[in-house]
Amino acid sequence: MSLFCDVALAVPLDMAFTYAVPAGMEPVVGGRVLVPFRAQRMVGVVVELHDRAPGAAEDALAASGSPPSAAEAAAQGQLPIAALKRCATQKRVTVKKIIEVLDASPVLDEQLLKLGKWIAGYYLAPIGEVLRTMLPLSAEFKRTIAYRITEQGQMALHLAAMQGSPGRSQRSAEEQMVEFRVLDYLAEREGEHVAETTLRGATRVSKGLLAGMVRKKWIAREDVSETRDAARVVRVAVLVKAEDVATDSTEDPTQSQRARLDGAPSGFVSKKLNENQRTLIETLAAAGGRVAVEDLHGLDVPRTTLGTLVRRGLVLIVEEPRPFSASTLRPRRSPFEFEFSAAQKLALGKILESVASSRESAGSDSGGRKFSGMLLHGVTGSGKTAVYLAAMRSVLESGRSSILLVPEIGLTPAMAADLIQVFGDEVAILHSGLTDDERAEQWHRIKRGEARVVVGTRSAVFAPVADLALLIVDEEQDGSYKQEETPRYHARDVAVMRAKMAGAVVVLGSATPSLESYYNAKKHKYALLELPDRVEQRPLPEVEIVDMRQEFQETGKDVVISRKLMEAIRERLERKEQVMVLLNRRGYSPVALCRACGTALQCRNCAVSMTHHKREHKMECHYCGQVAPVPKKCAECGSEYVYFVGTGSEKLEELLHGMFPQARIGRLDRDTVRGREDFERALNALNEGELDMLVGTQMIAKGHDVHGVTLVGVVGADTALGLPDFRAAERTFQLLTQVAGRAGRGNSPGKVILQTYFPDHYAVQFAARHDFAGFYDKELQFRSWMHYPPYSAVANVIVRSEKLDEALAWSGELGRWFEKTRHEGIRVLGPAAAPIARLKRDYRYHFILKSPSREKMNALLRAMLAEAAVRKIPRTQIVVDVDALWMM
Ligand SMILES: [Zn+2]
Ligand SMILES: [Zn+2]
Repeated sequence: MSLFCDVALAVPLDMAFTYAVPAGMEPVVGGRVLVPFRAQRMVGVVVELHDRAPGAAEDALAASGSPPSAAEAAAQGQLPIAALKRCATQKRVTVKKIIEVLDASPVLDEQLLKLGKWIAGYYLAPIGEVLRTMLPLSAEFKRTIAYRITEQGQMALHLAAMQGSPGRSQRSAEEQMVEFRVLDYLAEREGEHVAETTLRGATRVSKGLLAGMVRKKWIAREDVSETRDAARVVRVAVLVKAEDVATDSTEDPTQSQRARLDGAPSGFVSKKLNENQRTLIETLAAAGGRVAVEDLHGLDVPRTTLGTLVRRGLVLIVEEPRPFSASTLRPRRSPFEFEFSAAQKLALGKILESVASSRESAGSDSGGRKFSGMLLHGVTGSGKTAVYLAAMRSVLESGRSSILLVPEIGLTPAMAADLIQVFGDEVAILHSGLTDDERAEQWHRIKRGEARVVVGTRSAVFAPVADLALLIVDEEQDGSYKQEETPRYHARDVAVMRAKMAGAVVVLGSATPSLESYYNAKKHKYALLELPDRVEQRPLPEVEIVDMRQEFQETGKDVVISRKLMEAIRERLERKEQVMVLLNRRGYSPVALCRACGTALQCRNCAVSMTHHKREHKMECHYCGQVAPVPKKCAECGSEYVYFVGTGSEKLEELLHGMFPQARIGRLDRDTVRGREDFERALNALNEGELDMLVGTQMIAKGHDVHGVTLVGVVGADTALGLPDFRAAERTFQLLTQVAGRAGRGNSPGKVILQTYFPDHYAVQFAARHDFAGFYDKELQFRSWMHYPPYSAVANVIVRSEKLDEALAWSGELGRWFEKTRHEGIRVLGPAAAPIARLKRDYRYHFILKSPSREKMNALLRAMLAEAAVRKIPRTQIVVDVDALWMM
């Protein structure tokens, strides 16, 4: 047995903490433990077991609460003098002990733990925060004490109901009344753990009284921190004998007979049913004898009634696994009903071949398996999803596991519907709409091996599947795979690393692959699989560019919808065809401007103008969520000439209503979609022909497959081209290609009208021609000249503080340190004010690092963090974003 264990805690410190293992406790590597940390108790994951007593220097630093990177500084002889003194005087170190071992077996297996350490190293993220991200079990960390009724408790209740309360003295009678109140409450919730706070709130009893009942063994006290069964099961009330009870509610010989057989006294059940009891019984009988308990709560009957019926043997409560909450989207044709095209067959064959070879070469450990990476480049509508599903089905049939990552499954309900249709309850779906409990439930299903097909967003890459054979990343270029908070990992890149560690196959799929992935494929790091045509030989839509500068010259007006787009919409509506219009900006107007002094209304917390939301009558900051009243006067000069400038999707919808008053128009953006239901309702309406037109942000561009849409209008999707971000052209090209892909997916060919102020920009030109290869060549040239990815690794380092002085001073200090430091082969730009100079109250300065060598860049970043620790710059105020997607 080891004497010590190193525990990763979710704190912003780049280290694990050493604790002593008390005799009798057996923590496991990859399992959770409860430990004291500073003044609190925390749950952490054991990363190592050993017998080395912690070193004095390290411990002194931990005790002083210094950021751990100082430990590295110490190793280089840069230990602050105060700490050195402390080391010298400190003779014996006391190591704190683990409080409790929470897992007898690892929750993170060896491979996932290794992956976690890789992420911590690669992205310079604290290991504890990485592991917390990998384990979606925060719901279980809420330590709750709960009670349930025991058999003895049930018996006591029976006896009391039979004999009346026999209390010998007034005081004990009163006490017993209170005890029966508790028993009644728990009996009603039989099979459920009732949290102590809930129980005491409902029955108004003291802790002492509960302790007394535990001693009598009437109730059981349990720590349910780890087993939150309530979320995983549904309690169903079952009528013991439906016909008899429902028809004869006054006296029931059958039931008393039955009760007698069970050993209960007959007088107990021969009581008449009251009105509430009858209502419940009749409801149950009408529903065929079975109703979920939670559904009965909807009836106008006290909750105690059900408990009474249970005690009288008329109703049983059984626990069943909660049915999987499936999508409400109507099922479509199964993806397997289509004949696969030659290209689809070829791609599927290649994937399965690699999966099979990963199995053949499998030795006793995963190290013997063969990793392979593939890029599946298929134009929009070419049937990539069908290839994924067929590959996953084949993997499942061979008894192995697969994971499919999607950008936003909540927003692609059609895919969820397909998956359930194909895989039934073998599939676990993880997405952002799940509650903590639901997420934990899915996680456990996967861990127990009940679901070997996992589909989910970013963090599903950490799903604890066994025997991983295939990892697919759909729309691999999507920005939502990058987490924009610590740990700032990119799920696509983590997927590739996980597949490497598992000796599995990784498939990156896209109509518009990222430059990085396509470059890797061209360099033969990945096999390139292409689906160059749409399914059933449908043509790609024709794209027409409308130059909005010319439109202004000819009409003399700054219009939102060009004459050409308006005419095209009119034609489609007359032909009863459907239209989508994209404007990638929500709200009514993005700027409130004073015409007298030129001041725009800015957010209090960010250097960003606030957006006008007309219907909700408010101004909102889209970066921090700050809300303000709609200004009547300019705050700067008091003038009343406040104008709302520019157009968002809310205004676009209003404009279109004005132009086409007969049309039924829906809108999809973050303001109209609060959850999956809203989204599905809008898509269903479009699919069923209840809408003529759908207006929205990039949400409408995601992979929906609506067959009636023959026209896509693009309004102001090129504003990103004006941003100071090297990925602006790539992003614009991708968005234009994606949204164009929504047109003509049915039997009629599609058309796209693309309005732009940059008609000559190569991103616009290549998107209009559906020419990915052309765009790719041109963009690569630019990246190569500018030393950007894929030719260089980049990192964005942001130094932030609510105090401008601090942000300036810290970034200045680090800037001077970078100047002094030798760092061959690494370019450091900055410090400069970040393009968004203030965000969520923080002033922001940044550095951009570029280097063809990741290792060198990583080493320099580490040294920079160590330097910052020595200079007492708090770790949380320096954001290191390796492979940053946003340079803003
Ligand atoms: Zn003004
Ligand atoms: Zn703001």
